[in-house]
Amino acid sequence: MALQPAGFVAPRYTDVSDHRLARTLTAEDRSEEDGLDPLERVTCRTHRRWLHDCVSSPLHVVIVTGTRWCRNCECALNVAIDQLAGDVAVHCPSCGETPATRATRQLVRACRASLATAADR
Ligand SMILES: [Zn+2]
Ligand SMILES: [Zn+2]
Repeated sequence: MALQPAGFVAPRYTDVSDHRLARTLTAEDRSEEDGLDPLERVTCRTHRRWLHDCVSSPLHVVIVTGTRWCRNCECALNVAIDQLAGDVAVHCPSCGETPATRATRQLVRACRASLATAADR
């Protein structure tokens, strides 16, 4: 793999106005090719945004892994993002529970990391 200079932005992200976001998208796309779990990403290739900015999209529900999904109620989980506190809360709109699953912990962890990375200056 060719080495890229620090701060390199892939051509598909050069029109992303947030440069930290563009660089992180580029780096995570590359890491994903090297085996990074897409569900551990703090940026979103599809929406070209920070994860916490688009995690509420229906596209971020992954039923097979139980990501943003309540298996008991078979419905999508709500994600509440507190930008100021850097906090993330996940709950099911039907049963009100936060599923105690690996997928939910992973989602919360990734959203917190996304908030932290976006805020770091
Ligand atoms: Zn997204
Ligand atoms: Zn539920």
